[in-house]
Amino acid sequence: MINAKLAAKSHPHHQTIVNISQSVVCGGTELLIIGGPCTVESTQQMEIVAQTLLKAPVQALRGGVYKPRTSPYAFQGMGGDGLEILAGVRSRYGIPVVTEVMSISQIPLVAESADMLQVGSRNMQNFDLLKALGQAGKPILLKRGLAATIEEFVMAAEYILSHGNPDVILCERGIRSFDNYTRNVLDLAAVAALKQITHLPVIVDPSHAVGKRELVAPMARAAVACGADGLIIECHPEPEKSVSDARQALSLEDMVSLVHSLKPVAASVGRIVGAGLEPASFCLSVA
Ligand code: PEP
Ligand code: MN
Repeated sequence: MINAKLAAKSHPHHQTIVNISQSVVCGGTELLIIGGPCTVESTQQMEIVAQTLLKAPVQALRGGVYKPRTSPYAFQGMGGDGLEILAGVRSRYGIPVVTEVMSISQIPLVAESADMLQVGSRNMQNFDLLKALGQAGKPILLKRGLAATIEEFVMAAEYILSHGNPDVILCERGIRSFDNYTRNVLDLAAVAALKQITHLPVIVDPSHAVGKRELVAPMARAAVACGADGLIIECHPEPEKSVSDARQALSLEDMVSLVHSLKPVAASVGRIVGAGLEPASFCLSVA
C-alpha cells in the first residue's frame, strides 16, 4: 500500500491529462512521443532534428543542456547557450521542448525556454529540488531513480504535487540490476503498476533503459503495448558522433521508422500515434 494522497488513483477511470503546450498533451488517447539528442550540441544539430522529427511525427523535442555526467571531466552540457538553441527551435517550429533541470537555481532560466522540465534519475530524491518544482509553473517529467522502488518514485511525485504543481509525468527509464549486458533493466511491470496506482501519465525511456540502439525499438513497442502514455527516445543526426550516450542513440531515419512501427501496437491497445504538424503550420512562427 503506497501512502500517496495526491498521486493515488481514486477510481479506475481517474486519469490526469498533462498539457505540455496548447496542442500537445500526455495521458489521453494519443501517445506523447518525445525525441532528440541526449545533449544539445549546436543549432544546426537541433534544426535537423526538429525538421526530421516533426514529420515522424514526434510531439516534443528533448535535448540536455545541463548534463548529469558520471565523470566531472566529461562534457557538462552547453548551459545557457544550449537553452537559447532550444528556445530557437521551439519558436521557429512551434514544437514543445523538454530539458533537464539539475538545481533550484536553474529553474527560472530553464522554465523560460522549455515547455517541460525534466528531473533526471540522479535527482529523483533531491527533495528540495522537487519542492521548488512545485512552484515552477511548468509540467515536470520525473524520471525514476536508478535504484528507486515504485513507492519511492510515487512519493517523489507526491513532493511536486503537494508543493503546488499538478502536472507531473512519470518516466520509467530502467533500474540497476546484476546484468550489465543492458545498461539497466526496463521495468515494464512498473509501468503497468503505476498506471493502476496513480492517475499520472506514465511514459517510458527505452534508450537509457537498454543503452544499445538495436534494443530501443522493440522495447519502445513493448512499452506502448503495456499501456505507457508515451515515449522519450534519444536520436541524433550522426549517432556515433553524439557527445554523450552515443551507443544508444538512434539515427533520425531509424527514429522515424520506429514511430511508424508503433502505429499497429498503439491501435491494439486503443491508443493512437499523432498525426503530426503540417509543414505550413509548423513554420508559421518563423520571422
Ligand atoms: C537523460 O535523459 O539524458 C538522462 C540523463 O536520463 P536519466 O536521468 O534517466 O539517466
Ligand atoms: Mn542520455
